[in-house]
Amino acid sequence: MMILLDCGCRVSVAGRSSLAAARADNFYYPPEWDPSQGSLNTFHGQHALRERARKLDQGILIIRFEMPYNIWCGGCNSMIAKGVRFNAEKKQVGNYYSTKIWSFTMKAACCRQEITIQTDPKNCEYVIISGAQKKTEDFDVEDAETFELPADEGVHYGRNGALIY
Ligand SMILES: [Zn+2]
Repeated sequence: MMILLDCGCRVSVAGRSSLAAARADNFYYPPEWDPSQGSLNTFHGQHALRERARKLDQGILIIRFEMPYNIWCGGCNSMIAKGVRFNAEKKQVGNYYSTKIWSFTMKAACCRQEITIQTDPKNCEYVIISGAQKKTEDFDVEDAETFELPADEGVHYGRNGALIY
């Protein structure tokens, strides 16, 4: 069976009772651990770092990436909500003046679609490069705190009196 560790690494475990045992005593000892490697935390820290750095020679670090807004998966059209976390491959793809531009590539859980998102330092936002589409949030009159007037009135007024064209 596979166990998903906090760091996002998957570890395969032999035997059907391992998960139950792990829950019972609140510690999970991976099969490759032995007492000479020190505490489980020490071991797991090394394990996590080694996993995260395994593509460092290609300039890639594996990180946890949190979706900054709702998107549509380009593979199966499911919505992936803001806040959903992914294991992503992070690498530098350019510079904007002295600021690095980072690219994050991840696989969607729904259909394994590969999604690439980059930082856009100029506009202080994340942009989807491929594999998905940003979900356009429906305009909500109440959320925007405006009064809705008939279209032929030409202008809308906000509650503070400001003109909205
Ligand atoms: Zn999908």
